[in-house]
Amino acid sequence: MKSNSYDVIVAGLGAMGSAGVFHLAARGLRVLGLDRFQPPHTLGSSHGRTRIIREAYFEHPSYVPLVRRAYELWAALEKESGRQLFIQTGGLMIGSPDGVLVSGARRSAEEHHLRHDILSSAEIRTRFPAVQPDPDMVAVWEPRAGILFPEPAIQSHLELAVKHGATLRLNEPVLAWEATGQGVSVSTAAASYTAGRLLLALGAWTASLLADLALPLTVERQVLFWFDPHDAARSQPDLFDPKKCPIQIWEYSPSRFFYAFPDLGDGVKVAIHHQGERTEPDNLRRDVARDEIDGMRSILKRFLPAAAGELKSAVVCMYTNTPDEHFIIDFHPRHRNVVIASPCSGHGFKFSSAIGELAARMLTDGPSELDLSLFQLSRFNERRCG
Ligand SMILES: Cc1cc2nc3c(=O)[nH]c(=O)nc-3n(C[C@H](O)[C@H](O)[C@H](O)COP(=O)(O)OP(=O)(O)OC[C@H]3O[C@@H](n4cnc5c(N)ncnc54)[C@H](O)[C@@H]3O)c2cc1C
Repeated sequence: MKSNSYDVIVAGLGAMGSAGVFHLAARGLRVLGLDRFQPPHTLGSSHGRTRIIREAYFEHPSYVPLVRRAYELWAALEKESGRQLFIQTGGLMIGSPDGVLVSGARRSAEEHHLRHDILSSAEIRTRFPAVQPDPDMVAVWEPRAGILFPEPAIQSHLELAVKHGATLRLNEPVLAWEATGQGVSVSTAAASYTAGRLLLALGAWTASLLADLALPLTVERQVLFWFDPHDAARSQPDLFDPKKCPIQIWEYSPSRFFYAFPDLGDGVKVAIHHQGERTEPDNLRRDVARDEIDGMRSILKRFLPAAAGELKSAVVCMYTNTPDEHFIIDFHPRHRNVVIASPCSGHGFKFSSAIGELAARMLTDGPSELDLSLFQLSRFNERRCG
């Protein structure tokens, strides 16, 4: 009979947890991974076929070393799994020159000496004919940006974790956990488990197993759309080809964003970043309303007019937001053998390979050499006091 005792338990096996369980198992630890569903699944925050990866990080230059490590680890995962998980398309961060997107991307690129160019509206239109910015918009062009495939990435992390000896128990929600003198105990409906250490990577469900911390998290509904290029685009069939159409993020009005992908054969994928309704993960509205489709199409008509054809499909996903939209990657404030890594405010997937490694390191070797101050839980206390 198998023992219920492990070195580490990982609760939640989505983007962050699958990477965590892989890195822990690869270090030779006895690891148990638990998930309430069967990842990769469509009920959390990591579905929808594609995710953007980019380096000139407008949100804060501190993310750049982490994303650089993530690039290395995605390449290593491709090699070990034999699956293609990334394509390089280059990326355009488009908006007003002094908007948060362009000025932030530029700051990160300059601070970290990243390859980039600043393109005028006319240059963008000439180089990438599908992309039609307003005359006063500019773009930061970064050549290393591209697309990750989240479902096969999660699948690869999980399969390789098992190959390295991890035990996975799927469709088995964690109901509770507690710190004991020796480590942690974790209970599900099926069994109780003990371990020395615990990684909580619960995505939109994070608050449910950390009620005592009263984390200031909100879960936000987000819709992803795939549009068929318009009839007018048929005369230029390569308009949305990844070689001619990079990934884009647009600040289309001050602090309002949408993003777009090239057509990988299933339509042009676009979505508004934020502006979604607040929700609960077990009570998410999954239908997409006509006015949401019309709203997205009217933005396309202005900036990517050839993409504004028929809607092919749409899915609903969740962001887990912190008040400052930076991540949480930290030890539990009262338990140094418990790490919380998940709430990523809608921009975490690209980092998940590196966050998994980081969490594994925090649970084994102690703190990382990376600057993690942006991601610490104590910032919420400071805000409450100040
Ligand atoms: C529409 C959309 C677009 C995005 N675009 C990008 C992008 O282009 N680039 C980018 O970098 N990021 C992007 N993101 C953000 C990124 O996808 C997320 O930050 C990341 O995937 C979240 O990973 P996670 O592991 O925290 O959550 P998830 O992958 O959702 O994993 C959480 C897991 O925990 C499990 N779980 C929950 N409760 C329990 C429990 N009690 N017991 C056991 N298991 C439990 C769940 O079943 C789930 O499998 C996007 C997000 C969305 C929603």
